Amino acid sequence: MARTDVVVLGAGIVGVSTALHLTKRGLSVALVDRSGPGEGTSYGNAGVIEGNTLLPYPFPKLGALMRVAFGRAPDASYHLSALPKLAPWLMAYRANSTMERRILFANRMRPLFAASLPEHEALMLESGATHLLHREGWLKLYRSETDFAATEPERALAKEFGLPHSTFDQAGALALEPSLSPVFTNGVLWTKAANVSNPLALTRAYLARFTTLGGIVLTGDARSLHRSGDRWRVDTNEGPVDAREAVVALGPWAQDLLDPLGVKLPLAVKRGYHRHFKPRGNAGLVRPVVDVKYGYIVAPQQQGLRLTTGAEFAARDAPPTPVQLERVMPAARGLFPLGEPVEAQPWMGCRPTFPDSMPVIGRAPGHGDLWLNYGHTHWGLTLGPATGRLLSEMMTGATPFCDPAPFGAERFSR
Ligand SMILES: Cc1cc2nc3c(=O)[nH]c(=O)nc-3n(C[C@H](O)[C@H](O)[C@H](O)COP(=O)(O)OP(=O)(O)OC[C@H]3O[C@@H](n4cnc5c(N)ncnc54)[C@H](O)[C@@H]3O)c2cc1C
Repeated sequence: MARTDVVVLGAGIVGVSTALHLTKRGLSVALVDRSGPGEGTSYGNAGVIEGNTLLPYPFPKLGALMRVAFGRAPDASYHLSALPKLAPWLMAYRANSTMERRILFANRMRPLFAASLPEHEALMLESGATHLLHREGWLKLYRSETDFAATEPERALAKEFGLPHSTFDQAGALALEPSLSPVFTNGVLWTKAANVSNPLALTRAYLARFTTLGGIVLTGDARSLHRSGDRWRVDTNEGPVDAREAVVALGPWAQDLLDPLGVKLPLAVKRGYHRHFKPRGNAGLVRPVVDVKYGYIVAPQQQGLRLTTGAEFAARDAPPTPVQLERVMPAARGLFPLGEPVEAQPWMGCRPTFPDSMPVIGRAPGHGDLWLNYGHTHWGLTLGPATGRLLSEMMTGATPFCDPAPFGAERFSR
């Protein structure tokens, strides 16, 4: 039987980063996942480290909602059968979509987003993973002057927050990305965003660093977590592991463990899909590019050009329905040099999302030695190292690098 200070449950980018930070602070740590580390949601994202993020994605306005409802919106989709169960969550999400609430998000999340790239850089350096990082920013494309002009308030706000970006006309954007077709009018380059060319390889590099520092990786079902005397115990294929404290970093699966423990928090998922395409001829992309009108991203990855979709509101475990991918393909083929698909089927992942779009970081209410780090929604790759550092500082009594109070689970019971 293994005995450690901490057991971290879930080995996605969030769990691995947390485990690594705890190990660096001198604790003995076991990391448990039921499958391969980094192979969950953290495998298939667009690879963008979006430190420039300011505002959360709002609930769709009426016109857009109608398009979603009639299955015509390319950037969002839903399963009718999931709506009754999802309705309270959707209403809470809507309540968080006022400009006042979105600005509150911007202020509360800014320290985490500001730390996101430096924290990755530090871990990449010690993990030998800097070759995966590309600092070319990310480019958002607009298909009409009107759509571009509508972003003016957000860009003004970004200036107030000191977030650098450059605007381009079509020729300027084509100079940045010569393989694009001229079917757009304007581009905005967010210069401080970066991207990772293989998110799975990155998580594995952080994992290797964790084991080099003495961390243990075990295979098992986190739902076996139970009390054993004054400690937590988890059953794994390698035998039970006992720990003084436990961290839940199970992303979209966190409530499977927490609900039975009485920690009922309002987590839902925004599902998303990706598919890789071979580039046509010698074409390629320098950086991730967003086609704003259609709500998808194409990112250069080691496996090919990875096209990722917007949000699908559906039950986490319902069979995949990649209709959004099909809807955006004509637009994507008209803009990007996409050749043959690399895989037979698209990949599907679930963004773990709270109604206020912020993660929960801190103690589980009612369980002093159970800690939470999940709900990173669209930004788990971005925020894994920063939130891992924050939680490890809280758990070791160090001064947290930013105020953790806004991220406490208690915010849902007020
Ligand atoms: C299409 C798409 C594009 C995205 N693009 C970006 C992007 O460009 N930038 C960005 O920052 N974010 C992006 N995201 C979001 C990001 O991928 C997620 O926020 C992030 O991966 C969540 O990480 P996690 O570690 O919390 O969860 P996960 O990576 O899902 O890890 C959870 C782990 O828990 C394990 N687990 C589950 N249940 C159990 C159990 N019972 N027992 C043991 N183990 C269990 C799973 O096997 C998994 O390894 C995107 C997401 C999607 C879907």
